[in-house]
Amino acid sequence: MTTIGVFALQGDVREHLHTLESLGVRALGIRRPSELDDCDALVLPGGESTTMAKLARTFELLEPLRERVRGGMPVLGTCAGMILLADRVLDGAEGQETIGGLDATVRRNAFGRQVDSFETDLDFAGLDDPVHAVFIRAPWVEEVGPGVEVLATAHDHPVAVRQGNILATSFHPEVNGEDRVHRLLLDMAPR
Ligand code: GLN
Repeated sequence: MTTIGVFALQGDVREHLHTLESLGVRALGIRRPSELDDCDALVLPGGESTTMAKLARTFELLEPLRERVRGGMPVLGTCAGMILLADRVLDGAEGQETIGGLDATVRRNAFGRQVDSFETDLDFAGLDDPVHAVFIRAPWVEEVGPGVEVLATAHDHPVAVRQGNILATSFHPEVNGEDRVHRLLLDMAPR
């Protein structure tokens, strides 16, 4: 059975586990490197990217995560998870580390105070109906490398992108019963 890991040191882990289980796959919270070995694909949840990166470093997960993502494991990052996948971060904390792999520059807390948190319907490449997207102190993508496909935009900036095995959204598909983004991840995972 396909096993999808959810980075579980911090963030909205439960919502992702729930969405994945509803799609009929085995979903596993990941806190240590040995658990990562069991995964066919991975989700990096929303949360606080600086804390997630620090905990990943402390629990010796950061390097194994980098290796697996570089090695082609399918991965979905939502919100803070998108920041963790970015090769370059703007408005990060000093010395903020990432897993990287996504050839993009991502700006943290990009939508500013007025629209700090908001919901909207987005056209999403490859999906017939719009995606209802919940943004919570979300990042946006400021610049992408040539290999990055933009799947959705908001406020004139990419908010969903894909590059090979990496899928990332600024918003939280896991919080409102939207499962089509997770399905895209499953389509990328070996069966
Ligand atoms: N602002 C958070 C960060 O920088 C992300 C917010 C979220 O994941 N909802 O990590």
